[in-house]
Amino acid sequence: MKFNLKYDVNFSKSEVNFLDVKIKLINGKLQTDVFTKATDAHFFLRFNSCHPKHSKIGLLKSQFLRIRRICSDNSIFKKRANEFKLYFQNRDYPLRDIEFAINFASATDRNSLLNKTNKIANDRVPCVVSYHPSITRLPSIIYKNYKNIIENSNLDYLQKAFPEPPMVAYKQPPNLKNKLIQTDIFKVKVKKQISTTNHKCNRSRCKLCPIFNESSNFTNCISKKSITIRNGGNCTTSNCIYAITCNDCKYVNIGQTGRMLSDRIAGHRSDIKLSKLGNEKAIETAEHFKNFNHSGFNVTLLDHNSNWNINDRLFFEDLYIAKLKSLSPNGMNNRHNDIVKYFYKAI
Ligand SMILES: [Zn+2]
Ligand SMILES: [Zn+2]
Repeated sequence: MKFNLKYDVNFSKSEVNFLDVKIKLINGKLQTDVFTKATDAHFFLRFNSCHPKHSKIGLLKSQFLRIRRICSDNSIFKKRANEFKLYFQNRDYPLRDIEFAINFASATDRNSLLNKTNKIANDRVPCVVSYHPSITRLPSIIYKNYKNIIENSNLDYLQKAFPEPPMVAYKQPPNLKNKLIQTDIFKVKVKKQISTTNHKCNRSRCKLCPIFNESSNFTNCISKKSITIRNGGNCTTSNCIYAITCNDCKYVNIGQTGRMLSDRIAGHRSDIKLSKLGNEKAIETAEHFKNFNHSGFNVTLLDHNSNWNINDRLFFEDLYIAKLKSLSPNGMNNRHNDIVKYFYKAI
């Protein structure tokens, strides 16, 4: 990461800027003024923006009260108020609303603005809705119906729960800025493009490619059950459910793996080889190829999801065993997983 920080040292015996305040020393007295950086473009919320009217009026009011609070002299306040009047006019605020806010700030005693005000606690139950210009009548509708409901009902608990009408609070609806800008760079997730069809990986020495089934459907020829593969991948896909189909008798074995599919299939190959050499390993596929002396098979990727954990994979393995009816005698699978056991373990 390149650090491109620049520091400015400002030295003056007569004035200093701190946050949004410019403090000047004039004839032994301190005078305060509004300070804005030269780069500040004063891009306030546009008046035609899709926000509740009271938010825009509140912005005007708070800005002119801020100027009133900061400016120690009335003449400076008037000067700054006129500048901000132009900024707001540039953002299409009606002149009448701007002048109303200026007059309100002028009429407010500056000393009262310098005191800390305590907010009055509000116990009203909030009714939170996404803002839309067509629902501005909602507060009055709630108020009107609240009275009817409370007065005409004998429900004590309703009156206790809502001693006052619920207060409508607007939340921001989804907007382009939220969708396009991510404030926390570590949260940015690059979405992997999921191919919907199965395809060979075409790595030069991949041993799975020659027996990888690229069809978008899969059928258990014994049970005659078929599925459409919606979540395809390739030999390098991990966290997946797969089917091994015997080339000789078309019997199917459904399995799951968290590893790369090509690695898992290499494991099956090795088990079959060892089993045929007399090494007893109770693995369904190995047993089948040993007992029937069948040799070749092909592989189909049935489903995958990078967010799956072991329990999810066992669950989907069972699901595909059931969907395709690959339990013996219609396939090589000998049993369902005791999925409940796994879930309890996870808890
Ligand atoms: Zn491959
Ligand atoms: Zn077979």
